[in-house]
Amino acid sequence: MSPRPCRSANRCSDLQCLGCVWRYCRFQAIRILNQSTGPLYTISLTIPDPSPEGFRASRVELRNRVDYLRRTDLRWRKCGFHGWLQRDGTVRCIASLGMLGRGEVEKGLERWSATLGPEIGHDDLRVAIWGGVKPSAVFKEAGGARYQGIKLNIWPRRDPVRPKRACSPFLSHQYEADPMPVAF
Ligand SMILES: [Zn+2]
Repeated sequence: MSPRPCRSANRCSDLQCLGCVWRYCRFQAIRILNQSTGPLYTISLTIPDPSPEGFRASRVELRNRVDYLRRTDLRWRKCGFHGWLQRDGTVRCIASLGMLGRGEVEKGLERWSATLGPEIGHDDLRVAIWGGVKPSAVFKEAGGARYQGIKLNIWPRRDPVRPKRACSPFLSHQYEADPMPVAF
């Protein structure tokens, strides 16, 4: 526990501080809801080496796998995964599925024995995140006060603001947005 008292003006942000972790769950829920599409589920992944080093290696493999799936099936672009390494060696994630079905996600990530739990209502998302980050469940990295080393983040891809049009390179978006006066 941090030697400093945890107050609103001076948060300790310790992974073991119940108040800070609960607050973190709220921020995470807002971020996920802002970017998610489709239903939300908890999803559990099993990695071969559940140490922080092993987790980081698996995190790279998972990102590569999702990138590959996104190239072969555009619907994978809309799904996202946000997970935390657990003391029991699994990675507990919140997944937004976009247009994909449960079975497709489990099949796509079967190398990690992906198992989806029940669907999460938006109002229950904060509690679902708590299930993965509560101090009794989350992996406690020696000296680690933040989640970077034990967190998986694969955000859904956003649609481009406007589709690319075939046009002269002279007509850049700057000119479209703010047309220059024409001198006759
Ligand atoms: Zn705190």
